[in-house]
Amino acid sequence: MVDVLVIGGGMAGVSIAYELAAHASVLLTEAEPSLAEHTTGRSAAIYAPSYGGPIVRALTVASGPRYRALETELDTPPLLTPHGSLWIAIDDDGVEHLAALPAEPVSPRRARELCPVLHDVRAAGWDDTASDIDVMALHHGYVRGLRARGGTVRTTGPVTALRRDGRGWRADVGEDEVRAEVVVNAAGAWADELADKAGVPAIGLRPMRRTLALASGAVPADPAWPLVADAADRFYFRPEGRHLLISPADETPSEPCDAKPDELDVALAIERINAATTLRLRSVHTAWAGLRSFVADRAPVVGAWPDHPGFVFFAGQGGYGIQMAPALAALGAAVVLGRPVPGDVPARDVSPR
Ligand SMILES: Cc1cc2nc3c(=O)[nH]c(=O)nc-3n(C[C@H](O)[C@H](O)[C@H](O)COP(=O)(O)OP(=O)(O)OC[C@H]3O[C@@H](n4cnc5c(N)ncnc54)[C@H](O)[C@@H]3O)c2cc1C
Repeated sequence: MVDVLVIGGGMAGVSIAYELAAHASVLLTEAEPSLAEHTTGRSAAIYAPSYGGPIVRALTVASGPRYRALETELDTPPLLTPHGSLWIAIDDDGVEHLAALPAEPVSPRRARELCPVLHDVRAAGWDDTASDIDVMALHHGYVRGLRARGGTVRTTGPVTALRRDGRGWRADVGEDEVRAEVVVNAAGAWADELADKAGVPAIGLRPMRRTLALASGAVPADPAWPLVADAADRFYFRPEGRHLLISPADETPSEPCDAKPDELDVALAIERINAATTLRLRSVHTAWAGLRSFVADRAPVVGAWPDHPGFVFFAGQGGYGIQMAPALAALGAAVVLGRPVPGDVPARDVSPR
């Protein structure tokens, strides 16, 4: 019997479990034998406050100081390493998208100073608040912090059934039954499937596959280059050691699953980046894919349906679930516990809709 059962051991689950454990008894349970095997273990590890819609951006900005506080609180190595992000527009579509981004306009010439392998660009924007995230240090830190606060982590199989039990819930977890006052659904791409097991209406989550690869070509990567992202969201790349991390920024609808990269998507990334640069990418060292899961408005979902109290969605983190994790977890814990939202966190209504 626990106060809160958190289902899912990705960034969403461990971050909210840590925040909840300051005030409640918490059990976090994960279907896989180890945590962070799905989307969280496959991200590009980018913190870019200019990326995403208004709610995502507000939560990302609010997370900045929280990342720094967590380094001390969770005793981690540096979680954010500054690494500017350059948005480029290479055609009319790009120019239109760039105008809507909260990035500081810079000249095409300046863009090529920042990344000399770029062909001519039409316009560019600079986000010098962007950083690389040490995703695993943050994830491990949250797990350590959760345990230090008395929380428990189990990797003994998926939650297969959820039943109402008075005001709370009974959950079948592997071979065992767990009773909890509140269930937090942090099951990533599986969040609607889990809701269905509990007889709770879906939030309309759409998992979308995104592909990343490590590639190299005629020109060696320079660690000083920024993250370069097409403003119209058709590719991005950034130096990763001697290689380049590349993506075609694909969004292919998928069932919840262990996502695998499609070689056509990797080829598309190479084609688009080669067209925009002098890199002449040729070799792919490794490629992977993960599911970014969105609801229609692409903002996260935090809260319960009014007719289904005690079953709290913490889902729909889309392509931003790492960068906004610290503030989103604080917001989520406040919603679950019915406590005031901390003053530094934007108190947006992101309940199921
Ligand atoms: C290619 C790619 C690049 C990305 N780049 C970035 C980036 O640069 N910056 C950024 O901020 N975000 C990025 N993201 C998005 C970010 O990774 C996600 O928003 C975040 O990881 C989502 O975390 P999660 O915990 O919701 O999901 P997950 O990490 O998928 O965790 C959900 C967990 O729930 C478990 N689960 C499911 N069903 C059950 C069940 N019935 N019982 C028990 N457990 C269950 C699953 O096994 C899984 O481990 C990227 C995503 C992808 C795919």
